Order: sequence, then C-alpha cells, then structure tokens
Amino acid sequence: MAVAAVAKIERNESGISRVLEQLGARFGERLQTGQSLREQHGHTTTYIPNQAPDGVLFPENLEEVQEAVRICAEHRVPVIPFGVGSSLEGHVNAPAGGICLDMARMNRVLAVNQEDLDCTVEPGITREELNHYLRDTGLFFPIDPGANASLGGMAATRASGTNAVRYGTMRENVLSVTAVMADGRAVTTARRARKSSAGYDLTRLLVGSEGTLGVICALTLKLYGIPQAISGGVCPFPSVEAACQAVITTIQMGIPVARMELVNALGMQAINRYSKLDYPETPCLFLEFHGTDAGVAEQAQMFGEIAGEFSGGPFNWAREAEERQKLWKARHDFYWAGFTLRPGTKALATDVCVPISRLAECIVETEADIAETGLIAPIVGHVGDGNFHVTVLMDMEDREEIARAEGFVSRLNRRALAMEGTCTGEHGIGQGKMRYLEEEHGAEGVDVMRAIKKALDPLNIMNPGKIIGIVGE
Ligand SMILES: Cc1cc2nc3c(=O)[nH]c(=O)nc-3n(C[C@H](O)[C@H](O)[C@H](O)COP(=O)(O)OP(=O)(O)OC[C@H]3O[C@@H](n4cnc5c(N)ncnc54)[C@H](O)[C@@H]3O)c2cc1C
Repeated sequence: MAVAAVAKIERNESGISRVLEQLGARFGERLQTGQSLREQHGHTTTYIPNQAPDGVLFPENLEEVQEAVRICAEHRVPVIPFGVGSSLEGHVNAPAGGICLDMARMNRVLAVNQEDLDCTVEPGITREELNHYLRDTGLFFPIDPGANASLGGMAATRASGTNAVRYGTMRENVLSVTAVMADGRAVTTARRARKSSAGYDLTRLLVGSEGTLGVICALTLKLYGIPQAISGGVCPFPSVEAACQAVITTIQMGIPVARMELVNALGMQAINRYSKLDYPETPCLFLEFHGTDAGVAEQAQMFGEIAGEFSGGPFNWAREAEERQKLWKARHDFYWAGFTLRPGTKALATDVCVPISRLAECIVETEADIAETGLIAPIVGHVGDGNFHVTVLMDMEDREEIARAEGFVSRLNRRALAMEGTCTGEHGIGQGKMRYLEEEHGAEGVDVMRAIKKALDPLNIMNPGKIIGIVGE
C-alpha cells in the first residue's frame, strides 16, 4: 500500500506574520528577525543556497519549546531546530520559511550518574563543553564529529567521528531523549536502563530524524571511563589497498583499536603544509589504542606487525600525550588543511560508507574519478567503519564547477550504493542527499518513512523539505 505524500507545505505568509507577532509578544528580544542573523541560521556550509527562516527564537526550557511549537502548529508554520549549524547537507534551511529554534541557551548538564556511566544534558551543549564539564569525573563522551557540534544536532543527524570504531555512533550512545513533538506533546522515549524490550524504540526513531519529527529538549547519554593508557601513531602504506588490507586484518584479529583513520596521499600533502609536519606523502593510517599500559603497547606492536605484512610502516607510535595530541590535531585540522591545496576556495565535504571489504575498491575508484573530473579533493576516512569523506575544494560561485562537483558526488553515492553501502555514514540526508534515499531504501522503505512522518507530523511543520521532504513536490 503506497502512502500518499506528506501534506505539501508552501510559504504561508499570513500564518508567518501571525506567528511572528505572537512569539514577539511572548518572548520579546528572544525572537530575532534581523536579516544577517536569520541568514546565519540557514545553511552556510556548502553551495546549497541559503534559505533563511523568518525568525530565530532562543528558548530556555522545554515548556517554552512546547509553547513555540503549539503557536507554529496553530498557524501551520514550519519549525526548524538548530544546534550550531555545522551540518553539511542543507539540514537547517527553511525552504518554506518559518521559525528557527536555536537551542544554544538550553545547554545545561542536568545530571551526571557516575556509577551508571551516564549523564542527562540539554541539547544546546556542545561535545567539547560536555567533556570540559566532565573532566574531573574521570569520564568522557567519545563521539567527536570534526566540528564542535551540539549534542542535540549530533543526535538529530546520528553523527559519529574518529572514535566510532570502538565506541559506536550517536545511535549506540543515546539512551533516551525527551522531545517536543509536532503537536506540542513532550515524550521521554526511555528510562536510564542499559537495555529494554518495552515497546517500539522511539529513541532510535528520533536519533537521526534531523528535526523532522520533534525537537529534542534533553538527552541521556552513555559515558566511558577515560582510559588508563593511550598509545597512537601514524603508519604509511604504499597504496590505499595495502592500508585497507591492514585495517581489515586488524579488525578481524579483534584488536580493540579506538581510532583508525585513513588519509590519502593528497590529504597527507595538505596536512604537512598546514600543520608544518613531515609525514610521508603516501596513504597513511592514523591510529589510537585505549587500555592499560601493557595493553596499549601490545596492541600497537601487533598493529605494527600487521602493517609490515602489507608493506606498510614503519609504525612509529607513542604514549606521550604531547606526541599524540600533535598527530590528532593535524588529523582534526584536515578540513582546514585542504584549503592549502587551493587557496581562496571553499570546501564541500561529503561522506559515504561501504562494507569494509569493499572500502579499498571504493576509494581507488573514487580517486580515479576525481582525477578524471579534474577536481582537487583529498580523502579522509573513518576506515574502521568503512566510512570515508571527500572534501572537494571548489569555487562555490562557479556554476560549471558546481555541476562537475554534483556529477562527481552523484557517481560517488551510486558507487557506494552499488557496493551495498549507504549514501551517508554520518552526515545525514538534509536536502542534499534526498535523491539517493529511495535508491538506498527502495520505494517501499521510503513509503514507510512517509507513513511515520505523516502520523507524527500531519501538518508537515517539523523541518519540512528534508529527508523525505515535500516542499515543491
Ligand atoms: C569541519 C566539519 C567536520 C565535520 N565532521 C563530521 C564528522 O566527522 N562526523 C559527523 O558525523 N559529522 C561531521 N560534520 C557534520 C556536523 O558537524 C554534524 O552533522 C553535527 O552532528 C551537526 O550538529 P549541529 O549542532 O551543527 O547541528 P545543526 O547543523 O544545527 O542541525 C543539524 C540537524 O539537526 C537538527 N537539530 C539540531 N538540533 C536539534 C534538536 N535539539 N532537536 C531536533 N533536531 C535538531 C536540525 O534541524 C538539522 O536538521 C562535520 C562538519 C564540519 C563543518
């Protein structure tokens, strides 16, 4: 049975003016309508055009979010939740206008349960702020997207980062959320128990829903003990294939690697230039191991032997924090390092993920495609998960270049799908990847998603025009 498309939403001028009036009367200066602030709250990170909301509201608690959502629902006006705006696929755009809910003022830590290894936070706190808050407890939250994103945004995009190979993604690390739904109801999706068989898994439904089902107002997260010892280093390989073979063997042998990141030869050039380092400019793996003193030494040594089997190495590793911080800073600055390859341009960062056995093939074909298309685009990958990113350095004003980049991104996504992978391992669908959703899930799968959206947001006011979006359909 095909479910009809979710109600089409168009710009609703009279509703928007009434909502702005009512929110202004209720929230005063916490509703902002200045153009530049509104534009900052639309999409700003790629060539997807900026579509600003009509107003930006800064709520301070769940009840205020409920009030705002109810006012918007009454007048059928879109609500677009906003963390720090670092998403990469047009997620925070307002194609039919509406009200952006900037969650920055809801950034408190509500509880830390040290014995249970969990905490409950408001959505506006960023991952670095949370880890700063936790620093004296001996605990940390491991998910680390390249940007200092908000926990609400990270949950909404099902984000991950360099630590996912060991600690999982937001999917595995959110125990529960409290969300305001499209009609203003607040639901808490689970208790703090580590597992539960009680009913449908609403937590997992909201994690990754990109603001299209509800506004996350609190999250309970898993925490981990800061490891007693950490070792890490950089290991060069003669080819991408050799590096990927070493990754597969490391995982098959059950070595509990915490981070395993591939940077291709062009990426290493960028890192050396930007961070003033002298790593070999061949494909390299950046690695980190967590455990006891003896454990991390053994893991590093075992990895060194595996690398040698695939003509990689030498694997120079260190336990000293200073050495490790230098290499991870260089890795985390990858996005900025890319600009040294083509100064004056902007970056389009896109990601796909494939089963790990297809990773080398996928990256090698992608490198050939980049060369043929004439783009400058280094590659970095969370390869322990089969996930990699291509950062295309480009002139975002040049239509011809945009067309070339779009052609490349489309081939990249179809290549990953043909290898039984996904069009996005961690960035999400937003507006930019909507066209691949049906190719990935099939018409029936997308139909079921539409049925869920329709049941929970019949007026289609929650971040419309995203994932299975309906604006202009
Ligand atoms: C340099 C750079 C590196 C990056 N590296 C990575 C990476 O390694 N891994 C990765 O996963 N991502 C990465 N990203 C993408 C981005 O950081 C993530 O998608 C992040 O999770 C977005 O969080 P945010 O706070 O910026 O959310 P926003 O961009 O503000 O919002 C993202 C989406 O979440 C929704 N949303 C936000 N808050 C809420 C809420 N409280 N309730 C409901 N919905 C909400 C929004 O409506 C929107 O749809 C990178 C981005 C940049 C710029």
